[in-house]
Amino acid sequence: MLVLGHHRRTPATAAAFIQQVGERILVVARVARQAKHHRLVFFHAREVTSFRPMDTTPAFPTVRVVSHPLVQHKLSLLRDRTTPTKIFKELVDEIATLIAYEATSELSLEPTPVETPLERTTGMRVSGKKLTLVPILRAGLGMVEGVARLVPAARVGHIGLYRDHDTLEPVDYYFKVPGDAGERDFFLLDPMLATGGSAAAAVTSLKRAGATRIRFLCLVAAPEGVRRLAEAHPDVIVYCASLDRELNDQGYILPGLGDAGDRLFGTR
Ligand code: URA
Repeated sequence: MLVLGHHRRTPATAAAFIQQVGERILVVARVARQAKHHRLVFFHAREVTSFRPMDTTPAFPTVRVVSHPLVQHKLSLLRDRTTPTKIFKELVDEIATLIAYEATSELSLEPTPVETPLERTTGMRVSGKKLTLVPILRAGLGMVEGVARLVPAARVGHIGLYRDHDTLEPVDYYFKVPGDAGERDFFLLDPMLATGGSAAAAVTSLKRAGATRIRFLCLVAAPEGVRRLAEAHPDVIVYCASLDRELNDQGYILPGLGDAGDRLFGTR
């Protein structure tokens, strides 16, 4: 058993130990916010989620691949060129939920008093302001409901980007997020992290609005996009179902799943 004193998050010094021990870790913490709630509470570190530990690779330290069998199974159906629009939409939604389960695993908790039918106890609740989901238009819209299923109180912002013909740089034509961005956790949503240009620009816009805690949730990432996003914003962790091989000359991910927006909305 690893005793971590009263850290609410796993301290950096414990990371190597956790890596070695693998899945079976119980974190014991003392919650001492209010004297009458002093007690030991037991909660699981992310490493004992019902999911397998997420795959990380030293070459891409910002990436977390959700390797759960259901995610991988659904991703194969999503890749299949014969999967019809209706099923494609449902699969994007389901995978978004499963990825969000992992991406929410490091949200901060705080103790909260609870009256059960039998007695008063102390539970835990996610602390701080409501999580904000920000789909990048238009394909990111396909992930919103799936994530919101786990976090129904989440706020939803939107970012629309286009590529400037002269500079070839992405420019936002639509940007709306809650005003108190500095106090919130943000999940930026886009099924495909391809060149990383839009992702990096969207993060820049969010940071300009005051956001400091941003995670990027996608279904498929390309190494090129991960590298570009990490160079511009090394603090942004990318959660995905797969880190694919490469981009082709047209900027499509290989093996990929084609144009996510067209397949979601039937506009091919
Ligand atoms: N956008 C997509 O929808 N698919 C890709 O493969 C790359 C970018």
